[in-house]
Amino acid sequence: MSITVKKHLLKLSIVCTFSVSAAEKPNIIWIFSDDHSYQTIGAYGGRLQHLNMTPNIDRLAGQGMRFDRCYVSNSICGPARAVLLTGKHSHLNGKKDNKGGFDHDQMNFAKILQKNGYQTAMIGKIHLNGAMQGFDYWDVLPGQGKYNNPDFISAEGKEKNKGYVTDVITDKTLKWLSDQRDQSKPFMLMMHHKAPHRNWAPAKRHMGKYADIEIPEPPTLFDDYSGRGTAAKMQDMTIDKTMQLNADLKCGKWYKNNKQYAARNAYYAKHKPTGKDLVKWKYQLYMKDYLRCIWAVDESVGRLMNYLDETGLAKNTIVMYCSDQGFYMGEHGWFDKRFMYEESYRTPLLVRWPEHVKPGSVNKDLVQNIDFAETFLDLAGVNSPKEMQGESIVPLMKGNTPADWRSSLYYHYYEYPAFWHAVRRHEGVSEKRFKLIRFYGKDVPNGEEWEFFDLKNDPQEMKSEYSNSDYVDEVERLKKELHRLREYYQVPAGGDA
Ligand code: CA
Repeated sequence: MSITVKKHLLKLSIVCTFSVSAAEKPNIIWIFSDDHSYQTIGAYGGRLQHLNMTPNIDRLAGQGMRFDRCYVSNSICGPARAVLLTGKHSHLNGKKDNKGGFDHDQMNFAKILQKNGYQTAMIGKIHLNGAMQGFDYWDVLPGQGKYNNPDFISAEGKEKNKGYVTDVITDKTLKWLSDQRDQSKPFMLMMHHKAPHRNWAPAKRHMGKYADIEIPEPPTLFDDYSGRGTAAKMQDMTIDKTMQLNADLKCGKWYKNNKQYAARNAYYAKHKPTGKDLVKWKYQLYMKDYLRCIWAVDESVGRLMNYLDETGLAKNTIVMYCSDQGFYMGEHGWFDKRFMYEESYRTPLLVRWPEHVKPGSVNKDLVQNIDFAETFLDLAGVNSPKEMQGESIVPLMKGNTPADWRSSLYYHYYEYPAFWHAVRRHEGVSEKRFKLIRFYGKDVPNGEEWEFFDLKNDPQEMKSEYSNSDYVDEVERLKKELHRLREYYQVPAGGDA
């Protein structure tokens, strides 16, 4: 090769390098918690707002956009993560419940980002067995992972870690940002917390928090489910019957000699509450442990945001905060998730993007977790493959919701029969005001049972209006919409019974 040609090629490569320079492409940080309800984020308001539960997450909301109608397609951990990676509903990505495996060989957004010059990292809980694909760096908890001294699995194998899981995940994240990444490339970094997943084990340093206050109860703590069908009545997820004093609330033989939980063990030994008093007492323990776990997650968000500010990365880095689904904070007497009712169907979503997202803004459009993969690709300026089923929410972030944005969402929960919580299989359609749910299959009377809710008149979903003649037109309309969505999303005919 002649010197002239070599020089020319060198010039060309410099030009090419500049045309895709890191400075032009934004970095993306996705913070994902496990079972974090919108009810326990101050920025979302509600009955717990005065507790100042999440100062750093609230700061993120104040500097960016709060999405008020962000929903999931299947309210459970593993499947929600499969949707996050693939941008496809469970019936197409194959991960319908927590028991089944996940095919990592299929398309995911990270593989596409990688091919388009992004450096990709996944740290923390993913809850999908097998080696991660599409990530230059991955260091994840095996399965559910442990709260204290957790093992991690990476491409190099298993490694033991000392400390509290939320802190370990944050340390690993900051280490990757400061020491391990290729500084010349834009990055997609996913920090996935285990907290506040059951059994809500706080860091020792936070046990004193909320100690002397009373957490407000939801008005539906003693729901008798009379306004709903079999599924709501027959679930196994109540604070009363399902939540265990020993395993869940650390009050019992496993924790007898554990100083962290000495006060509650002493109280129980002395007072032995029963009936409604016991439910109320369990509710307080549950909520305080849960909120203490959230406090550590909030500290993590604060540490990460401070790092971005100190290094100047904040300006060109989009920070998003979300949970894999919502959670019941005693509403309907429950903990856990799974149902298409609002508290578990909805999930928090906050986005900060300096100079693009208006600080303190609120979006009320219908958004779903099938949208996240395409949103990441859009932020990186990369086209999405046709097989992804969501929509990019980047226009919404910029305050420009398209005129033809969707007006309904499709939902489908599959894990029944199951070891945990006995929530019957169901699918449904929701709009901003109305929601239609079809429970089906084993242990549903006659194999099919419908519920219909008017969220405007009944925001707590206490009474199904399916048989109310006032709503006959709306029910019929939503049945047609459910049919249309099933076709649009290629749901196999006949449900999945
Ligand atoms: Ca979860």
